[in-house]
Parts: sequence; structure tokens; C-alpha cells
Amino acid sequence: MTIFSKIIAGEIPSYKCAENDRFYAFLDINPIAKGHTLVVPKHEVDYLFDLDDDELADMIVFAKRVAKAIRAAYPCRKVGMAVLGLEVNHAHIHLIPLQSEGDMDFRREKLQLTAEEMEEIAHRIREQF
Ligand code: 5GP
Repeated sequence: MTIFSKIIAGEIPSYKCAENDRFYAFLDINPIAKGHTLVVPKHEVDYLFDLDDDELADMIVFAKRVAKAIRAAYPCRKVGMAVLGLEVNHAHIHLIPLQSEGDMDFRREKLQLTAEEMEEIAHRIREQF
């Protein structure tokens, strides 16, 4: 079972932003920007581009709705989308509010946010979803 499957099952806590029957969105625990969110399929697939065409398309449409909610909660120029998957072997999309190109730099220092701040961010995104 991947760490993200444990999160989806509620065995590990997460700051939930959005959910439907097939996909789950929650805050990245080490955000590079306020509102940095991960979108995952509820079943385990390692590599995003191994998803079948229909599921990948549906996941992008779900991510689109999440991105709109992020932008409504945290006004930004655009919401960036990235696929890495080098750390966690459970397909996921990163959604990151952008003001400038540097906001997509995954090597930058991670934000140090309290549990209260994380819950407030997730709550604001949930309200907009
Ligand atoms: P990637 O696999 O895309 O290279 O990186 C995995 C991402 O998942 C990282 O940005 C990391 O901070 C995040 N992450 C890893 N473990 C957890 C976790 O247990 N909870 C949450 N919310 N995020 C995690």
C-alpha cells in the first residue's frame, strides 16, 4: 500500500481539498507555495502516464476544478501543473499557485506552515470547490 493509499483510506491524516469517487486532492505536506496541492487517483498506479486514456482525461478534468478552487482561494497569475513522481510511487499531479516562474522550483526551500495554517488553506480551497 502506498503512502497516498493510506492517506486516501484515512489511515494517515491529510489536509483534504477535494474528492470525488475516483480522485482525491490534498495539500502537499512540504509545500513550495501556499496552496500547493496534490491530485491522486484512488487506486494505485505508479506512473501517471500509465493510466488509461479515459482515466487520465478524467483526472485532468478533476485537477482543473481543483485548480480553479485554488485560484479562487489564493488569487495568483496562473496555477501551474507538474508531474514528478520521483519520491512517491503513486501517480499524482502537483498544482501550484504561481506569481512567477520561480514558484515552480521544486528545489526551493519548503514553506514552514503550522497545522492551523495548513487546515485554513485546505478549508479555503474546499469552500471554493
Ligand atoms: P514526487 O513523488 O512528485 O517527486 O514528490 C512527492 C510529493 O509528495 C512531495 O512534494 C512531498 O512533499 C509529498 N509528500 C510525500 N509524503 C507525503 C505525505 O505523507 N503527505 C503529504 N500530504 N504529502 C506528501
